[in-house]
Amino acid sequence: MAKGRVYFHIDQCKACGLCVKFCPKGILGLDEIVLNTLGYHPISILRAEECSGCGICALMCPDLIIEVEKE
Ligand code: SF4
Ligand code: SF4
Repeated sequence: MAKGRVYFHIDQCKACGLCVKFCPKGILGLDEIVLNTLGYHPISILRAEECSGCGICALMCPDLIIEVEKE
């Protein structure tokens, strides 16, 4: 059961992969189908039900595009 929810402002994602690398649950990934307005494959959550709401992804994002809501 999820303990948190993440929201992304995907059009500002530069696909640097930092949040993917540091998520302790390994549940983030770049969307290989979608292209955002910057021309990158943006961040997406692969298994939302496993999110703990720890907030590490939001801390790591240099562009502050991730919001975490703790449940
Ligand atoms: S809040 Fe924590 S568990 Fe959820 S996606 Fe971000 S880093 Fe991963
Ligand atoms: S850290 Fe931010 S800019 Fe980098 S891939 Fe994650 S959401 Fe996108």
